Amino acid sequence: MPSTTPLRLLIIGAHPDDAEGRCGGLMTIYRQAGHVVKWISVTNGDAGHHLISGSELAEIRVKESANATAVIGAEYEIWDAHDGQLEPTLDMRWQVIRAIRTFKPDLVLTHRSCDYHPDHRAVAQLVQDASFSVTLPAIVPDTPALSKDPVVAYMADTFTRPTPLRADICMDVDAYQDTINEMFACHVSQAFEWLPFNRGIADAVPTGDKERKRWLLEFFMPSLYGAVANAFRKELITNYGEKIGTSVSFAEVYEISEYACPLDDKKREQLFWFLTE
Ligand SMILES: [Zn+2]
Repeated sequence: MPSTTPLRLLIIGAHPDDAEGRCGGLMTIYRQAGHVVKWISVTNGDAGHHLISGSELAEIRVKESANATAVIGAEYEIWDAHDGQLEPTLDMRWQVIRAIRTFKPDLVLTHRSCDYHPDHRAVAQLVQDASFSVTLPAIVPDTPALSKDPVVAYMADTFTRPTPLRADICMDVDAYQDTINEMFACHVSQAFEWLPFNRGIADAVPTGDKERKRWLLEFFMPSLYGAVANAFRKELITNYGEKIGTSVSFAEVYEISEYACPLDDKKREQLFWFLTE
């Protein structure tokens, strides 16, 4: 059964499209159940393009984020750190502690500390360092401390060094493909411009709105959610059985951080009720 009090889901990512690219299914499930969802992008994304940069790009990404979160009625907040220059400083850690204390999340999603992008690694470090500290009143005394840590979960990646992600939560999100795609498509500068350019497939992007959304769903999104499904196929089969497990094309997988609140059976039922229904 879903919780009667709205749950609060906070995603702390490095860039404005990180949430839609990694946890769109979970965000959608939470919103459809009436829960509160917010993502924070610690950087303003002002380096994520081959032709536009600086404040012009940052402004574009604010609009794209507003459109993307409006699809499911989530909230967003973009901080002003420069893209590609993030460091896990003490000031930044305090900012993360304040953000967690103010939002009072039940569940926080973030990056893992082994990741290709230095900004992702910095955010992972910041959230890890904020965990536990959010409960210490003497740290950042201007914002009241929480009595308990939230559960913190790492969003899926397929990196293996030094260790692959442990699949504590493994979700078939095929039913949410269209919504996830709709959200990611709002990040026009990324979905249809920078990311295809960076991957050398810019010429493959169709021009019409309908056509490029279909292209995104069929050819690009599989490189995100489909790659996760393939990397964790064994776990999907264990959870959903051979028939469904082998056919899942979009998946989300999460590892629970050992530095924050543990995911015991009660918490699992509360935060991931839809997996047991
Ligand atoms: Zn990113």
